Amino acid sequence: MNYSCSRYELKCNECGKLFGNQPLSACPDCLAPLEITYDLEAVRGIFTREAIAAGPANIWRYAALLPIPDGFQPDLPVGFTPLVRAKNLGKRIGANNLYIKNDAVCFPTLSFKDRVVSVALANAQKFGFTTVGCSSTGNLANSVAAQAARLGLKATILVPADLEPAKILNTLVYGARLVRIDGNYDHVNRLCTLIADEYNWGFVNVNLRPYYAEGSKTVGYEIAEQLGWQLPDNVVVPMAGGSLIRKIRKAFKELVYLGLVEDKPVRFFGAQATGCSPITTAVKQGTEDIVPQRPNTIARSLAIGNPADGPAAAKMIRGEGGWAEDVSDVEIVAGIQELAETEGIFTETAGGVTTSVTARLYAQGRITPDQITVSCITGNGLKTTDALANSYLHVDARAIRPRLADFDAYLRELDGTTESELATAGA
Ligand SMILES: *Cc1c(COP(=O)(O)O)cnc(C)c1O
Repeated sequence: MNYSCSRYELKCNECGKLFGNQPLSACPDCLAPLEITYDLEAVRGIFTREAIAAGPANIWRYAALLPIPDGFQPDLPVGFTPLVRAKNLGKRIGANNLYIKNDAVCFPTLSFKDRVVSVALANAQKFGFTTVGCSSTGNLANSVAAQAARLGLKATILVPADLEPAKILNTLVYGARLVRIDGNYDHVNRLCTLIADEYNWGFVNVNLRPYYAEGSKTVGYEIAEQLGWQLPDNVVVPMAGGSLIRKIRKAFKELVYLGLVEDKPVRFFGAQATGCSPITTAVKQGTEDIVPQRPNTIARSLAIGNPADGPAAAKMIRGEGGWAEDVSDVEIVAGIQELAETEGIFTETAGGVTTSVTARLYAQGRITPDQITVSCITGNGLKTTDALANSYLHVDARAIRPRLADFDAYLRELDGTTESELATAGA
């Protein structure tokens, strides 16, 4: 496969000025975020359903529309996660055509951040950085640490001090240098901007952010391909910085433009925790003005109080006829349990947010039962087990003796069932 055929460069969202390719995330003139623009006509002949199907079963099958430097040979099988029909969850919440995009099992570090990091680090190498890093709410830290280790790059990673222990461990194990900051993500991110300049390091979500963000498009490409090259009616997406939700839309638009899918209206629904809901608040109030918040939620991976792409995300959601909702910490835990109990998928707190918001959108009638709806599960529950610490206390309570009578008694106690019910169940 030829990985060096895309022609791309940085472009300012506001003034349209082009900046070639360099580690730069904002327009020096108008301070708006930079995005990657492609010569779509140049890839029309090579970005086809057939060529993609002949590619590897990972995100690199879409390399022609990713910002990959000439000569880059990707070797990590990132992405191409399952899209599963959620019949059981659907039955519970009144959905007939609900799908789960399951990035809880993304390779290599079990969140969708593996997609963005692999694209960012390809460019970090091209730009000559030997040390890379990020400001992270957890999953990004894990992915940068793992992928930097594989590429032989040094990694320095900054996180808020109150991160889940599993996400700390999942960073340190790869040999990364981890710095806990006494502050929230927004403090961490500001500091990283200064460090990137001072030390000349490649921070994937700071000076490499436009390249990083493009990796999220692969979620959109995969959804369309896995639905048999059609677009869904609705997509429910968790929001932290507000990047992923916009990039799924960008992917759909590119597929329509190049004729891989038929055009149709797709509505985007954003999901946040009430304890950090700057984007959903803006959407509900009908504004693009984001009022920064001080995060206070168990959904730490979504705890960005001043989201970089918040204004653009809020504008897009409303503009396409979508909506945004936020749920409490109690609902987040219930969402984690509901997805696990119905579909056998154990997601982290962010997935609890998405699942609960999805259920609410059906309950509100904003999504109707027969529409094709994809709920994006972006991270793995094994990283946030502390969120469930109070949910299964009886397991720790005591062990029973290895006797059938003890087991019988224990089961009755556990289920609160009667003798006759037990007999029926055993029959
Ligand atoms: C980072 C993250 C998100 C949100 O991504 P943005 O592009 O910043 O909005 C969603 N879910 C999980 C699990 C994440 O780690």
